[in-house]
Amino acid sequence: MAGRNHLYIPGPTNVPNEILNAMHIPMEDHRSPVFPKLLTPLLQDLKKIFRTETGQAFVFPATGTAGWEIALTNTLNPGDKVLIYRFGQFSHLWGEMARRLGLDVEIHQETWGKGIPLDRLEARLKEDTQHEIKAVLATHNETATGVTSDIAGVRKALDASIHPALLFVDGVSSIASLDFRMDEWGVDGAISGSQKGFMMPAGGAFLAFSQKALKATETATFPRCFLDLRDQMTSNKDGYTPYTPALPILYGLRKALDMLLEEGLENVYARHFRLAEGTRKAVAAWGLKICAQPGFESDTVTAIMVPEDKDARDVISTAFNKYNISLGGGLSELAGKAFRIGHVGDMNDVSMLGAIAGVEMALLDTGFDIIPGSGVAAAIEYYRATAK
Ligand SMILES: *Cc1c(COP(=O)(O)O)cnc(C)c1O
Repeated sequence: MAGRNHLYIPGPTNVPNEILNAMHIPMEDHRSPVFPKLLTPLLQDLKKIFRTETGQAFVFPATGTAGWEIALTNTLNPGDKVLIYRFGQFSHLWGEMARRLGLDVEIHQETWGKGIPLDRLEARLKEDTQHEIKAVLATHNETATGVTSDIAGVRKALDASIHPALLFVDGVSSIASLDFRMDEWGVDGAISGSQKGFMMPAGGAFLAFSQKALKATETATFPRCFLDLRDQMTSNKDGYTPYTPALPILYGLRKALDMLLEEGLENVYARHFRLAEGTRKAVAAWGLKICAQPGFESDTVTAIMVPEDKDARDVISTAFNKYNISLGGGLSELAGKAFRIGHVGDMNDVSMLGAIAGVEMALLDTGFDIIPGSGVAAAIEYYRATAK
């Protein structure tokens, strides 16, 4: 099919040409005296995206899933109790990983469409007077449902109960696109990956840890080797890595950081809000509902529910086969019930309108009773009114 495949999934996201070009490099000697000139400023600048001055940033040749494991195995001991709220496929998988690693996982089920219930979290932490809970695992942006949780609120709950648990945050689909403040929110481990807000191919796990978490690496008894933060710290200190770095990922990250910092993080967050808001206006004009309940709407991904007599998989396959656009499917409990539009990364008003128009055509083709042009019109009006 001529033209591009239009990628409107919430990761991997569209890679800007500048980043593709930056990654197209010959290999070089990663033990050379000049290699630290690449790595040291890269790790320093990565901290700016996490909004941490006191923490330390890390790059592993891995993905977000490894980031979950790095946080858990480097700071905890087998059998430690961790608390997690499960409200979508990604929070489910993180809790499942913790269980498989041998942690004592306390899982609280939450409605898919809602995020972390702060009042209940605070009550549970207050009840834990013996401080058996060693870490709270918070999924900032649940990509499966398009739900954003209030991490500042999680910190407040921990502080209100004077609880010393570590706070680990999965920010794979939020960091570098949604407001995220590691220091201000007292996050001990922030986990991200290259293929969403960072606009790169998969293959980089980007992380930041607080001094408290780094201290915990000294006593944690989980076996770990490839993912050992201590080895990274020892090598990173001099500008090197403990094993062969994924050079294209490092050069791609260099370009991605330059682009994000040049745009300015506040502008990046505002752009994602506008992209999301235009999408939500279109969904409302179609008369459809989003999965996220009020107050939890994500600015990086919208999960759209279809009526019971419809199968969201038909919308996705029609969009792909007929119009060459890729949408996200409903995961697990939402299979067939929802489709997802990603509005994260290298996107602007017009690329977003491509997604909205493509979805609208696929909805019409699959028998949805919507007015042609209604979603596009709603989004156009919003984008026109709010464009600078
Ligand atoms: C994509 C995603 C992950 C998984 O990351 P991988 O890079 O696929 O390992 C984890 N959490 C969230 C919230 C995600 O969106």
